[in-house]
Amino acid sequence: MLLMAVPVPVWRGLLLALGFSLAAEGLYYLIRSLNRLCQQWPAQVLFFPAPVTCVRPLLLSSPGHCDCGLSHRESALSCLTRLLLSARHSLDVCVFTISSLELSSTVLVAHSRGVRVRVITDSDYMALAGSQVGSFRRAGIEVRHDQDTNYMHHKFALIDGLTLVTGSLNWSAQGIFGNKENVIIIKNTDIVKAFVEEFGQLWNEYDPAKYSFSPKK
Ligand SMILES: [Zn+2]
Repeated sequence: MLLMAVPVPVWRGLLLALGFSLAAEGLYYLIRSLNRLCQQWPAQVLFFPAPVTCVRPLLLSSPGHCDCGLSHRESALSCLTRLLLSARHSLDVCVFTISSLELSSTVLVAHSRGVRVRVITDSDYMALAGSQVGSFRRAGIEVRHDQDTNYMHHKFALIDGLTLVTGSLNWSAQGIFGNKENVIIIKNTDIVKAFVEEFGQLWNEYDPAKYSFSPKK
């Protein structure tokens, strides 16, 4: 009898409120599920070798025509180049070897655009001909390296601390244009956080203030 006493407009309002509430809850769970899905799945996988193409137009501040004679079509290298150039605040590179002119130019462009670039590399390989560590340092990019006979063998980069680029790829012409290699791109997960921590730990460990410059006994 009490229900009958409630006017129809009030019922309608209550049903509408219930409908909105259920819709909002449904939307919340949908967004949460999608968010989890995005966090768990790698965004992309790139396979190398890449075809020999020119990525120079990607490095220019304003897109222009390049008449180098090479193809400018999309490739694993152009995807990787675009990704590295998407950095807005920071680009942390931790690679065994850095001799690729394409990738080192990309790192230099990111630095010239005001991105804070930090590079960690291997002390033995940075001394070899072709290493671009010298050009980084001349440009004012901070480079740190290991001090022992074991290799600093990582091959990963962190873009704005949110996107991880990792895999088997050495940052060399041989790695890009010759070898069978893979690069996995992972966004904003616990895996990314672990690599951020690893980079920070190595950056601290390889602080020049801690260099001994004397052989271990
Ligand atoms: Zn070109």
